[in-house]
Amino acid sequence: MHQLTLAEIARGLADKSFSSEELTRALLARIHQLDPQINSFISVTDDLAISQAQAADARRAAGESGALLGAPIAHKDLFCTQGIRTSCGSKMLDSFKAPYDATVVAKLAEAGTVTLGKTNMDEFAMGSANESSHYGAVKNPWSLEHVPGGSSGGSAAAVAARLLPAATATDTGGSIRQPAALTSLTGLKPTYGRVSRWGMIAYASSLDQGGPLARTAEDCALLLQGMAGFDPKDSTSIDEPVPDYSASLNTSLLGLRIGLPKEYFGAGLDPRIADLVQASVKELEKLGAVIKEISLPNVQHAIPAYYVIAPAEASSNLSRFDGVRFGYRCENPKDLTDLYKRSRGEGFGSEVQRRIMVGTYALSAGYYDAYYLKAQKIRRLIKNDFMTAFEGVDVILGPTTPNLAWKIGEKNADPVAAYLEDVYTITANLAGLPGLSMPAGFVDGLPVGVQLLAPYFQEGRLLNVAHQYQQVTDWHTRAPNGF
Ligand code: GLN
Repeated sequence: MHQLTLAEIARGLADKSFSSEELTRALLARIHQLDPQINSFISVTDDLAISQAQAADARRAAGESGALLGAPIAHKDLFCTQGIRTSCGSKMLDSFKAPYDATVVAKLAEAGTVTLGKTNMDEFAMGSANESSHYGAVKNPWSLEHVPGGSSGGSAAAVAARLLPAATATDTGGSIRQPAALTSLTGLKPTYGRVSRWGMIAYASSLDQGGPLARTAEDCALLLQGMAGFDPKDSTSIDEPVPDYSASLNTSLLGLRIGLPKEYFGAGLDPRIADLVQASVKELEKLGAVIKEISLPNVQHAIPAYYVIAPAEASSNLSRFDGVRFGYRCENPKDLTDLYKRSRGEGFGSEVQRRIMVGTYALSAGYYDAYYLKAQKIRRLIKNDFMTAFEGVDVILGPTTPNLAWKIGEKNADPVAAYLEDVYTITANLAGLPGLSMPAGFVDGLPVGVQLLAPYFQEGRLLNVAHQYQQVTDWHTRAPNGF
């Protein structure tokens, strides 16, 4: 049963081939058996899962239907779940039980999903390797010595290892798309404002966006359908109708204009990845797409701009973890200053502390104009590049990552080496655009992803292109050895 996709599960539940409770029990057993190898879960919520599965079965028996009714999923451990630990991968929140559900969690629960647990992640979603979690590194099911990508590495590894069909994730600079690429999954970062951020613990508020991670585009469409929509509790949520994402999956690609940004194929890209990206372009051409070269002249400034803006916002967001209101508190503080200093010094890991220091510096009087304001201007230039490009093309295609998954520990000594891995993904966050990564082959047994970007609110188009590609390729169907 663990090989089934969300779409297949929906059919199996509808025609009564199995019940949600049977499926949930089977997957929970598989998680307990196999997860110790990959460490993709922080919490497994057996009791909650079984009661939600029973409730879903009862709803079906009473005549309700729905693609997500009884579907097992997991949530990245930064979505607040009422009464259940929501750790954000940090010692700071190790004992934090959220007093309410995030909007995404509540909406999916209402649609009938079954929560198997909370997935491992880089501490406060900062990272590209899932090595900075308080709960230990996550391993890539394709090769246990390699990272699964981050920061949603737990969600990605769990889905890739067939512990469950799909999971929620978040993407501030690539954390849905990059782990999708490194574990051979399909992952979608929606337009900024499409999915509510309420109850999603903030990293960099102007960049954070929740989205689905699954094996297929068809499954991403189903999960996104349950996540997307206006939320008055999130002031940056956008009040736009949510289309039926499954309805456009089969639209023909005849005449679709695909832009290849020349800056995404230059120095720094592993040539073996470049070859697989070109092979995916050929497949899409066979399906009727028309290819054009385009230019995004300011993308070279994206990493420096992002690594000012994201830490700046993080330093402000993380000021709430002060040892007083919630989370970790140090033992025997001498006075209030000692309480703040030691609670934060002991509760946050080193990458989080590095970002808080960089961000505080960038926002400080005298440096604000030189760093934060300058970075915001670059952000606008990058957005303008995309707006110009989308006048001539319908989607933009390129590699998701410049390199294959690296060995656990390999980049630990040099944080900037890991930051450079985000070079192709962070532009979409800076511009607020939707982006998707889909499996496009393997090099030395390690997965490679292709990224598609589209204009605002064109998630349906991204899912359509990926779904059509997945009708003529089988990369997304392959499972790692031993899983
Ligand atoms: N790797 C990026 C960072 O560390 C992106 C992380 C994310 O998208 N959450 O900031």
